[in-house]
Amino acid sequence: MNILVVGANGQIGKHLVKLIQENGDQARAMIRKQEQAAYFKDLGAETAIANLEDEIDVIAEAAEGVDAFVFTAGSGPKTGKDKTLMIDLDGAVKTIQAAEKANVKRFIMISSFDTSREAIQAAPESFAPYVVAKHYADEWLLNTDLDYTIIHPGLLTNNPGTNQVTLGANVERGEVPREDIARVIYTSLKNDATIGKRFRAVSGQTPVEEAIQSV
Ligand code: NAP
Repeated sequence: MNILVVGANGQIGKHLVKLIQENGDQARAMIRKQEQAAYFKDLGAETAIANLEDEIDVIAEAAEGVDAFVFTAGSGPKTGKDKTLMIDLDGAVKTIQAAEKANVKRFIMISSFDTSREAIQAAPESFAPYVVAKHYADEWLLNTDLDYTIIHPGLLTNNPGTNQVTLGANVERGEVPREDIARVIYTSLKNDATIGKRFRAVSGQTPVEEAIQSV
């Protein structure tokens, strides 16, 4: 399987590309600067340069020949609300449209923990625009014919992965290492039973492979 990782140079992205390569699949890291390529080339991954502020065609060209998309990009907490709109919302929607344009059906979205309308209403003023962006990006994907999986991670940490998670629609808020989220993404790609599903992911006591079977 050849997988386009959008946001590959991010913290989840780097774990994910490594995992894909280690397991004999092929990652294509979508990055925005040439100087970011060396890490991925060393792993045997392909790279494609594209910016989420580019036209949809540029993202679609980066995806030529792939079997699946993973969107794990994000504007991060250090940029303004302009980038929340341009990356977390418009960038995500353009990536979905690029998948459609490139005829790639499989799409995994890294959302945030709670993107419900209630979460928008309950969010502090500074955080609400991000929840809005993630809410509508999820909604856009749900209204396509793509083979989607939407993963809603808890609070991400850089603790080493444990391969032990709790997945489900109604799990309690909690932390989860980025390395474990990368494994949840990869395992979802390998399990078509996750198509058309959305679930939360936090640290737990069930091995990822087993937890994925029951989402
Ligand atoms: P991260 O390390 O901040 O990585 C984000 C990636 O997005 C970076 O590689 C960045 O590229 C890329 N990006 C930003 N703007 C871009 C643009 N214009 N064009 C192309 N790429 C762009 O994020 P993470 O910690 O891996 O988290 C990934 C996802 O998890 C995000 O969608 C986030 O919303 C979501 N999430 C986070 C939490 C949390 O607790 N933090 C919880 C749930 C969900 P550069 O490397 O070039 O800067």
